[in-house]
Amino acid sequence: MPVRRETSFRVPVPSIIPICALVTKNTQPDVLIMGAGVIGLSLAWELANRDQRVLLVDSGQAGQASWAGAGILPAAATTGIRDPYESLKALSHQLHAQWSERLRAATGIDTEYNRCGGLHVARSPAEAATLAANEFWWQEHGIRSQLLEPAELKALEPHLKADFRAAWRLPDECQLRNPRHLRALSVACQKMGVQLREDDAVVKLLTDGKRVTGWLTAQGAVLTADNYCICSGAWARQSLDELKIPNGILPVRGQMVLFRGPRPLLGQIVNEGNRYLVPRRDGRLLAGSVEEEVGYVCETTDIALQGIQDWATELLPALKQCSVEKTWAGLRPGSFDGLPYLGLVPTTENLFLAAGHFRSGLHLSCGTAVVMADMIEGRPDRFDVTPFRVGRG
Ligand SMILES: Cc1cc2nc3c(=O)[nH]c(=O)nc-3n(C[C@H](O)[C@H](O)[C@H](O)COP(=O)(O)OP(=O)(O)OC[C@H]3O[C@@H](n4cnc5c(N)ncnc54)[C@H](O)[C@@H]3O)c2cc1C
Repeated sequence: MPVRRETSFRVPVPSIIPICALVTKNTQPDVLIMGAGVIGLSLAWELANRDQRVLLVDSGQAGQASWAGAGILPAAATTGIRDPYESLKALSHQLHAQWSERLRAATGIDTEYNRCGGLHVARSPAEAATLAANEFWWQEHGIRSQLLEPAELKALEPHLKADFRAAWRLPDECQLRNPRHLRALSVACQKMGVQLREDDAVVKLLTDGKRVTGWLTAQGAVLTADNYCICSGAWARQSLDELKIPNGILPVRGQMVLFRGPRPLLGQIVNEGNRYLVPRRDGRLLAGSVEEEVGYVCETTDIALQGIQDWATELLPALKQCSVEKTWAGLRPGSFDGLPYLGLVPTTENLFLAAGHFRSGLHLSCGTAVVMADMIEGRPDRFDVTPFRVGRG
């Protein structure tokens, strides 16, 4: 089922605006968040846990866009971290283990967070060289890794077929099941009193110069708060363009194939270059993906799906006996330098941005929530956030 985004930021604004829901000062939230994807939901939950009143607005359904991801949480550095991006990853990686427990306690939903481990395999000399270089980086940063002999690989994953030049196992690679994680976040938010306004897009930011004074929605509501945060993923570009803030956010489409078989064929995630196989506990197996710059078009294509299926069955021939249960596409919020934008929007005093997480939005979501909540509350930064500053582009 393709995940379609039919509402965009550029919803036509009627010339006479019916103000149907003017939020008054005494009921107004402390923080208004645009976008209930994994970033918006995580931030809302973090803020609600800090006693902030939060209203989330989404042009579609909460969690629908982030639903498309595979849920891979690659192993993160544990020592020798100098790079702020690695700090964010490491913080998030640690928090995922805690959040999965807290979400289960709060909602009863098992997100299937699982330290299943990941294999990184290479068939070409270039890929093998890349993995060999990665080994130095893994060692320097305290990421456990093990080079596998062919017999060890066979014993671990007997269904894997391809003849690999190299295969490494990273035991601290984890996964969670996106749809469950998003449902858990959504339920947990509502239990903490977060208000959720779905199927209503923010179409205009109202300002008095330096401060945002409200957000106008497609349904004609003017929503107000003390602070505002844009978490609208790839669509954040449209808000920033309207404010004339330089940015390099762009949608990058990914496509996915979900196989359903009678029994689990793999015990861990398998990565080859940018492609991966992700086994779920119930025997389902996800195969992905591609990177396509096709604007805000979120539909699957036969050619990409066939390419993913061919690659997947080459590695795991037993998949030929499995049926394809679903296929879908999703838009990743890419950024020109691969880093997310986290911080205050220049020239404003109360408008923040958290977007551009590209292939790692799920992974970085908990850390992003904590870092952004600190910023919104005016607390000191946990690490150097300069590389994430808004306005670079
Ligand atoms: C195929 C695929 C596989 C992936 N696999 C992984 C993975 O394994 N691990 C990982 O960490 N990441 C993965 N990702 C990336 C991850 O899904 C994204 O980085 C993440 O979803 C970004 O979250 P977000 O909340 O910033 O944006 P989104 O999930 O895009 O959410 C943005 C939300 O904003 C809403 N919105 C937009 N405009 C407006 C508006 N004007 N007003 C109100 N609401 C608005 C949208 O409806 C949407 O709900 C994958 C992505 C894809 C496509």
